[in-house]
Amino acid sequence: MKAIVSLNSGSSSIKFALYVLDADRAPSLSAAGKIERIGISPHLTIRDTSGETLVVQDWRDQHGLTHADLLAWLFDWAISHLDGREVIAIGHRIVHGGVDFAVPCLIDDLVLDELERLCPLAPLHQPHNLAAVRAITALAPDLPQVACFDTAFHHDRPELATRFAIPRAFHDQGIRRYGFHGLSYEYISRRLATIDPALAAGRVIVAHLGNGASLCAMADGRSVDTSMGFTALDGLMMGTRCGTIDPGVVLHLQTQMRMSPQEVETLLYNKSGLLGVSGISSDMRALSESGAPEAQDAIDLFTWRVAREAGALVSILGGVDGIVFTAGIGENHADVRSRICRRLEWLGIRLQAHGNMSNDTIISHPDSKVKALVIPTDEERMIALHTLSVLFGVAQ
Ligand code: ADP
Repeated sequence: MKAIVSLNSGSSSIKFALYVLDADRAPSLSAAGKIERIGISPHLTIRDTSGETLVVQDWRDQHGLTHADLLAWLFDWAISHLDGREVIAIGHRIVHGGVDFAVPCLIDDLVLDELERLCPLAPLHQPHNLAAVRAITALAPDLPQVACFDTAFHHDRPELATRFAIPRAFHDQGIRRYGFHGLSYEYISRRLATIDPALAAGRVIVAHLGNGASLCAMADGRSVDTSMGFTALDGLMMGTRCGTIDPGVVLHLQTQMRMSPQEVETLLYNKSGLLGVSGISSDMRALSESGAPEAQDAIDLFTWRVAREAGALVSILGGVDGIVFTAGIGENHADVRSRICRRLEWLGIRLQAHGNMSNDTIISHPDSKVKALVIPTDEERMIALHTLSVLFGVAQ
């Protein structure tokens, strides 16, 4: 029996999933986990398919442990867990594929060089993604590694959706709207086609609401436009990111308030969003449990901004047939979904209260003009499917 591993390596965390392949090469999940707080005090949890905890490990105060150290630990664990099954490939989430990488591909030295050149476009994500590739190469030089891009799902949007209103030459140099969360949107698009094929063929807004958050307008299962642009800072308000902001604010912070580019980056990426507005937490659950008015302000602004962006995307689609909620908040937070849908009532969305509270798949009322659904995302599975299709040359 053979196995593959999906890796999603971020700045302070590594998410991973192990899949074993059956005789038809269909992947079934064997274990999944996350290492968090890398650089501070790494904490690992691994669960099996039924959600039972297989491993919990704390590397207390070992802030010197690098991604490469932890990947080496994980690699050893995976080999013993797989008990003789051979790992035949690793699939990586790579945030930026730039203009050229429209589909997943095998990583070789040339590809790695080209992806390296895209680091300035995603300085907080891409270097960590690529560091994981290098760490695996050091551990197993002959193991095939596949790059799966977060930008690829948005690659074939209409040209207009990719443009900023700045001189053409900048667009030609790559300063354009790329869009992210593509692996999640692709997974949702496929799931929706199974759950409700008629809706999947129509006009749908998918709301990926986690720590990072964005919306995607889909027609017939393809991305038409999305709220994130050049970087994953754009669009919705997020856990610690500001989302869309008047660029004049950035100029003001630098020229009038004398903040350095580094300070502005930290402010907008790490100190804004739910955390900045509430002054309490970046975590939606913590905010809903807090009685503080600042926490409520932050939640109100979050739902306001989702409704505002959704309205913009509905006008691009020329109407909407359904809205799908996914990721940590979208899958679990009934109150936030309900507040968003109330702001979108003018579209004809009506939730079914009980279904919404229970995180049912269909949460809209049977009379609702626009369907509302909750579909759990699974970026790791999408990575696994892409990895298999690159390895064996057939669509999975
Ligand atoms: P990431 O972008 O880091 O993958 P997630 O998709 O895990 O983020 O989403 C994290 C967000 O989801 C947090 O704001 C958290 O409060 C919220 N969340 C996760 N689980 C629940 C839950 N059961 N109820 C309400 N909110 C939740």
